[in-house]
Amino acid sequence: MTPLELTSSVCDLHNGKLVKLIKYEEEEICPLCERERNTELLSQQQSEKIRQAHASKAYLAFSKQSILTDENLYSASFGNYEAKQHEEIANNEKAVKAYQRYKGGEVFNTWLTGMPGVGKSPLAMSILRNLNETGEKDKCCLFISVDEMLRKIRGTFDNRESIYTENYFVDLLSVADHLVLDDLGAETGATGTGKQASDFTLRVLYAIANARQNKPTIITSNLSKGELVKMYDAKLVSRLMKDTYLIKFEETSDKRIKNIEF
Ligand SMILES: [Zn+2]
Repeated sequence: MTPLELTSSVCDLHNGKLVKLIKYEEEEICPLCERERNTELLSQQQSEKIRQAHASKAYLAFSKQSILTDENLYSASFGNYEAKQHEEIANNEKAVKAYQRYKGGEVFNTWLTGMPGVGKSPLAMSILRNLNETGEKDKCCLFISVDEMLRKIRGTFDNRESIYTENYFVDLLSVADHLVLDDLGAETGATGTGKQASDFTLRVLYAIANARQNKPTIITSNLSKGELVKMYDAKLVSRLMKDTYLIKFEETSDKRIKNIEF
């Protein structure tokens, strides 16, 4: 190792302090500047570590914190969506377009509507999974079955050990970068009967809708806008339908039934 020797020069940056430079491997260096540079580097490395930890927590939320009624949905993709009819092909393309717009940073709400079993949830999942898997992988993408979420919250009323409180979901769904609310309107369990949502359901949905006014949300529902207004209220529905990109199934029949061959 080259022995360190003080030179006669002083550091320009630390002139006021008259810091003598050290000769190190034929170069004159200022020990004070060197120390500052190291501290700066260390703090940069630490912030990068913190950033990575946040990114990985956000990325993993998709598989760890989503609430699905059917785990098979995780394998849905644009590629394996079975599109035969004109409407299915067109809606698959529309879903790809929604994904591309979200990826480009646009903020809007996507609504997938139509009868049960036409493939709304698989398409919503495909948009979400692609958003989770591309780019920096630092986005929090959540798929939430509305009915299952409300059931879990209700469960905390008699089970204080459960983490799935109303606050847990409202906080989680408020911060998510991309959120799918799956099967909105199915939670009253009386679709088509004109039954109104409970105050509890309204309160939870309002909190989520309010928190997500400037964030993109993807919603699937079997109900028409009129039916949703009857079930909830016009204000909540219009908030959820702000800047809507509509993917509507009118001709497609139940794919789950059709796929059963005898
Ligand atoms: Zn210096």
